[in-house]
Amino acid sequence: MGLLALGTALDWPQAKKRANQVRNWGIEQLLANWQRAKGKERDALLWGDEVEYLVVAVDDEAKKARLSLAQAEILKSLAQDEALWKAGTSSGQHDGEEPPHFHPEFGRFMLEATPGRPWGIDFKDLLKVESNMKWRRVVAKSHMAPNEYPITLTTFPRLGTKDDYIRPYYPPSGPALRSQFVPDEIANPHIRFPTLAANIRSRRGRKVELNVPVFKDKNTPQPFKDPTINYNLHNWPEDDDVRNGAAKDDHVYMDAMAFGMGSCCLQITFQAKNMTEGRKLYDQLSPLGPILLALTAATPIYKGFLVDTDVRWNQISNAVDDRTREELGEVPLQNDRWRIPKSRYASNSTYISQDPRLRKEYLDPDLTVDEDIKKRLMDDGMDELLATHFAHLFIRDPLVIFSEDLEKLDLNKADHFENLQSTNWQHMRFKPPPPEKDDIGWRVEFRSMEIQMTDFENAAFSIFIVLITRAILSFNLNFYIPIQRTTENMETAHARNAVLDRKFYFRKDPFSSHSPRRHQHSSNGSAISSAASSACNTPPPSPPLGPVESEYDFMTIEDIVNGSTDGTFPGLIPLVESYLNSVNVDVETRCSLARYLDLIRKRANGTLWTGAKWIREFVTSHSAYKQDSVVSEEICYDLVKAVDEMSVKEGRNGTIGWELLTGPGR
Ligand code: GLU
Ligand code: MG
Repeated sequence: MGLLALGTALDWPQAKKRANQVRNWGIEQLLANWQRAKGKERDALLWGDEVEYLVVAVDDEAKKARLSLAQAEILKSLAQDEALWKAGTSSGQHDGEEPPHFHPEFGRFMLEATPGRPWGIDFKDLLKVESNMKWRRVVAKSHMAPNEYPITLTTFPRLGTKDDYIRPYYPPSGPALRSQFVPDEIANPHIRFPTLAANIRSRRGRKVELNVPVFKDKNTPQPFKDPTINYNLHNWPEDDDVRNGAAKDDHVYMDAMAFGMGSCCLQITFQAKNMTEGRKLYDQLSPLGPILLALTAATPIYKGFLVDTDVRWNQISNAVDDRTREELGEVPLQNDRWRIPKSRYASNSTYISQDPRLRKEYLDPDLTVDEDIKKRLMDDGMDELLATHFAHLFIRDPLVIFSEDLEKLDLNKADHFENLQSTNWQHMRFKPPPPEKDDIGWRVEFRSMEIQMTDFENAAFSIFIVLITRAILSFNLNFYIPIQRTTENMETAHARNAVLDRKFYFRKDPFSSHSPRRHQHSSNGSAISSAASSACNTPPPSPPLGPVESEYDFMTIEDIVNGSTDGTFPGLIPLVESYLNSVNVDVETRCSLARYLDLIRKRANGTLWTGAKWIREFVTSHSAYKQDSVVSEEICYDLVKAVDEMSVKEGRNGTIGWELLTGPGR
């Protein structure tokens, strides 16, 4: 989650005064870097996965599971091991692989792990992912107290409840978060994190607001009024929020960044061979974001209640929403520059590939961009599409500014650029090569997936996305739909059991290669004009394009993944299979890959459950559950134990991994 520079962090009133400087310097750094790296060629097709964990401390005597705030100690101990390995004094090897890297995350109860080295193009690498992920879990565990476990639940079920759900215990609330539910100590104490949280709150003018619809069971009070809210606090001005209507009936209410950024996900980053390929991957993977969010759904509990949504996405979005009332459109624009339709954490709003298949109708006509920044970028030769993308990201203010960094602009660094880039948490991220490292190329990050309870599943989803990416490049697949449809799909993915019960917009013909007729983009500076004109000197004779609406359909995930029965869409898995048929993969590798693809196939057709469904069933069939939506301490303890057992059992016998997820009886 971004850089960890040190220094004197400015509070919001101070930071606001320097925001323009940081933005302008960030753009100058971007331009210098883009000039340097735009012609970079032949970078290796590498990829990497990131797995995030909760650290849970289990008290078997009291039958309680609590979050452990031991991140710093665990990371320190892990770093010592890594240093020993680097010095050659410990073997640290596992099947010839380098030891994994561990990183801090927002929650002081979180860890993140990546493979020791990025994965390569070889199919054999795909088969190392699962065992490497399992190894990471073993390594992490070995640096924890005997009763602590790395658990891959997206959220801790009882974060923010009134009981002592953290170890060591700190009562709410502190000056940074001003939450009535969680203490400041819940966040990583590195100055970046409390500053980020405090400046988001301060910029916004009130606390962040997360209202998640409660799951209404037989005995859930109607209307449901979140019983954990205290309306009588007077410690901070922000305590007025609930008196001013921040909490909604029939919703579970939360008021701090930790409720969102304390969630765990599975992210995949690809290095493309050059910028052009990176831009293509960015566009083509974008429509898959919501589909993979629904397929990986694993978040049915917040603050001790079953909720009526299955994924974490909107909660994180609200947890870091720094928009003012003016930007939100709640009051007329007076001091702020524009209305902003989405939070900083949200689905993408731009396409960036100079692809003749990109029709201007796919772009958002109402996209908010900083026109001055766009002009600055274009004046230096950046094409309109890419300039628009960055001028859109740079409508935001930098949130964490260190005064030491404001003395001199260093064009050989990317710190000011990254300040904005890394706090634009969109579901795809386009990453320029870092200026300091010549061996890293243009990268694209796929960010929507939820972490899965077992590493078999985490590996399966990683491998699936990698293979889709290869199929996209190999067959030049076309998944373009209007970008607003992807935004709508992202909402749809939240519904309970969306994976089986909902339909999503998806392109019907992934092989369509129409390029827009020239007259459609030659005038009025449309965003694709430069794209199309540079892409083809002699435009192929193409039939007139039909209306954009005829290009996509409303499909179930089963149609999208396995192919629609009426043949409208071939299916992502069949596309991957054809890709595998088109390349030389030995039988053994092919069979091993089939296990992973089978999980995706069965998840899409309902044979296998999502984590969200499994957790719901676990809770509702628990003997202590009272049909009142409450996930008690006892249920939480049993759930954590079951999830740990599942990941360990699965670790011992990988062949049964996904079968564990067919039902609560297991
Ligand atoms: N944990 C966040 C999520 O669930 C992502 C943080 C990151 O970008 O590393 O999406
Ligand atoms: Mg992370």
